[in-house]
Amino acid sequence: MLISIDGIDGCGKSTQVKLLAERLGAERIQEISPSRWGKKLRAMESPSLAQQLALFTADRAVLAATLEAAAGHPSIHIVSDRSYLSGVAYQSFDSPLSPEFVEELNRTLVPEYDLQILLDVPLETAFARIESRGEKKTWCENPALLTHARRVFHEQAARRERVVLIDATRSIQEVFTDVSTAATRLF
Ligand code: ADP
Repeated sequence: MLISIDGIDGCGKSTQVKLLAERLGAERIQEISPSRWGKKLRAMESPSLAQQLALFTADRAVLAATLEAAAGHPSIHIVSDRSYLSGVAYQSFDSPLSPEFVEELNRTLVPEYDLQILLDVPLETAFARIESRGEKKTWCENPALLTHARRVFHEQAARRERVVLIDATRSIQEVFTDVSTAATRLF
């Protein structure tokens, strides 16, 4: 089964990915991956939109075979920290590219996910959690970008059955109860 967890930076994705992967005995992967494209992307201070689109898409193409092997498979489980849904939300910001275009481009590369979880928090919560992590801020941590991304995530959840929006303002354990309930429905 192929499951992803997306949401704006600081929503608690990494925390929930770790818990869910442990619960399912699943392999954990991350976008951006350690591919040569992923490494290039991580090394960039502030990538242009064209660089983001090219490198994220190339990085996803490298992951495609791994994702393909797990999608719909009853005993191969992958939990991914982010998926192309983040590309749809982030690369359509201040951009000539519509969310639909970024989605179509990526859907030519990656299989249908069995479940895509979106963790939803307001910006204030996300920024407070980012601060508490005490790491250097990245180019993604921009209020206008995150407001846009959150709106696109809501739109995705409203129109797609396999995309589930979870209120992530609650405690780690409360959020995990909903995350694991959504995942358990697949089995
Ligand atoms: P993301 O991967 O979405 O950027 P993280 O999982 O790294 O977010 O969480 C960011 C920070 O917030 C971490 O310090 C983490 O321990 C904390 N955190 C995660 N989930 C919650 C939660 N539900 N309530 C309070 N703090 C949380």
